[in-house]
Amino acid sequence: MTDQPLRTATCGCGALSVRTTGAPERAMLCSCRSCQSRTGSGISLSAYWTEDQIVTRGAATEWVRDCQDGRQALHRFCPTCGTTLWWTMDVFPGLIGVAGGAFADGDFLEPAKAYWASLRPGWVDRIRTVETLDRQGT
Ligand SMILES: [Zn+2]
Ligand SMILES: [Zn+2]
Repeated sequence: MTDQPLRTATCGCGALSVRTTGAPERAMLCSCRSCQSRTGSGISLSAYWTEDQIVTRGAATEWVRDCQDGRQALHRFCPTCGTTLWWTMDVFPGLIGVAGGAFADGDFLEPAKAYWASLRPGWVDRIRTVETLDRQGT
């Protein structure tokens, strides 16, 4: 266990954090309406670890989100900065989801599947054709 990589995801203000041990059980992209609403984007990056791989810190606010097909997710978010940092879903018992973008070194995440492609906005598939800038544009 000692050679398992430890990683930390944090909310925007640092009041909440999640420490993960080892590789995630799964990582995926998702374009369901719930993820689009949660992230404000057309596609989310989520990673799931088993409960024994996760330690959370901080006083999160909880909210149950109704998802596609009658599923539910119990989201934990920061009452100060609003970042949804981790959650559980009834369809993934025993797993804790973490927002992929909340890891400073999120490049280690390699999503294996893209869920809800039927709801994915067309621009996601055309993103390689968009003018790209290495830094903030004006
Ligand atoms: Zn925060
Ligand atoms: Zn989703």
